[in-house]
Amino acid sequence: MTTTSQHTAARWTNWGRCASAEPADVVRPRSTAEVAEVVRSAAARGQRVKAVGAAHSFTSIAATDGVMLRMDRIAGIQRVDRGTGHVTVGAGMRLRDLNRALDQIGLALPNMGDVDPQTVSGATSTGTHGTGARLTGIAGAIAGLEIVTGDGTVLTVSPDDHELFGAARVGLGALGIITSLTFACVPSFLLRAREEPMRLPDVVAGLDALVEDNDHFEFYWFPHTDRALVKRNNRVPEGTERQPLSKARFLIDDEVLSNGLFEVVNRIGTHQPRWIPRLNALSGRALGAREYTDRAPAVFISPRRVRFREMEYAVPRAALPAVLSEIDRWVNRSGETVSFPIEVRFAAPDDIWLSTGYERANAYVAVHQYHQMDYRRYFEGVEAIFGEHEGRPHWGKLHTLEPDTLRARYPRFDDFRSVRDRLDPQRTFATAHLAGVLG
Ligand SMILES: Cc1cc2nc3c(=O)[nH]c(=O)nc-3n(C[C@H](O)[C@H](O)[C@H](O)COP(=O)(O)OP(=O)(O)OC[C@H]3O[C@@H](n4cnc5c(N)ncnc54)[C@H](O)[C@@H]3O)c2cc1C
Repeated sequence: MTTTSQHTAARWTNWGRCASAEPADVVRPRSTAEVAEVVRSAAARGQRVKAVGAAHSFTSIAATDGVMLRMDRIAGIQRVDRGTGHVTVGAGMRLRDLNRALDQIGLALPNMGDVDPQTVSGATSTGTHGTGARLTGIAGAIAGLEIVTGDGTVLTVSPDDHELFGAARVGLGALGIITSLTFACVPSFLLRAREEPMRLPDVVAGLDALVEDNDHFEFYWFPHTDRALVKRNNRVPEGTERQPLSKARFLIDDEVLSNGLFEVVNRIGTHQPRWIPRLNALSGRALGAREYTDRAPAVFISPRRVRFREMEYAVPRAALPAVLSEIDRWVNRSGETVSFPIEVRFAAPDDIWLSTGYERANAYVAVHQYHQMDYRRYFEGVEAIFGEHEGRPHWGKLHTLEPDTLRARYPRFDDFRSVRDRLDPQRTFATAHLAGVLG
């Protein structure tokens, strides 16, 4: 192994505190050549290699007992093509650093999820997405990538290579170690945010217009109630002035109500679950209407300080009303108390083989449970409902599906496995989690 890579073996735990590992070694390579050398020497010893991002997946997808590669020394912008808007970045770059760096050169990613600590490679490898019926997940903006395969070969993958490009953009870390990603960026833009409480039946009745008439539409439904918080974010014409939230309003809404008070609500709910429905009704009322205009990343991103576990499935858009009413019935019938709002988002179809959005316009339904409460019964109940509606699980969030079911939900599942056989025949990148989902 190289002398410049830094080795620090340590116990690894994910953000949700629901996955952990004892890697045999932790290496922080500085270059693609070093990554290739680590992979070659580990393969020669019969040891496994796994890149880890920011540990923001809820599953064990990033866990390994082999060599863990931390990619934070291969981060930063490597190349900018002003003509095409293509920007090449090191695989370990955090989304928040990328957003900041892009903003400085007048560019932006077309869409974002609701947090930004993830690495570019970790986020795309699991199919991370935001909301917007005309926009795909973040991996849909990939215009090329560099990956080190199981024998240490460095491949440059472009859209012309339909097989590898189809497979590697959402690769679950199973095909190799990504060392750089090229994103097709757009000119930086401001968003006009409009947030307001609505009744869930009104949201569902007006769903098509809400989804189609807004660039980024999403809502949070408070279980045990018919209340929802609706968010419409729309691009504004160039030259529009920023009108960000005042510091005081941000502090009250985003820090006190959505985080500080919400933590207290969850702690109370942990000990007094029967109070949760009433607390949810209060939470649904506490967050009032607000409008502001700010840079896109500032609108997309919300602080998440209350720790939770999450399951998220993509279902065909038309199935959403049925899914929501079945969840409502299940919650009422089961007696389960749920303190976290259910998050509903939308995205356009894409052509990425293991993307939840593969050739399908989806609604995304995400359920959460406070980290000190047992999530299993709730997630199991809801997962069965997703299963009735061809639900495709988010690869970075909790689910229990095995290869046979996943094959039926992801039409290119076996094509992906064939590419894996080609790029990693010795399974240098295998983990127990990948064995569970890919077989
Ligand atoms: C608070 C919170 C909010 C979230 N919000 C959203 C959201 O809005 N939308 C959404 O879709 N998801 C969301 N997620 C899920 C999250 O985006 C994904 O799980 C994502 O994969 C995490 O990225 P990471 O950098 O932490 O990667 P990790 O979880 O560390 O790794 C994920 C996978 O990527 C692989 N990987 C990492 N780096 C490389 C590399 N260089 N080469 C090859 N494989 C690599 C790992 O091996 C692993 O298989 C959220 C998660 C949390 C905890």
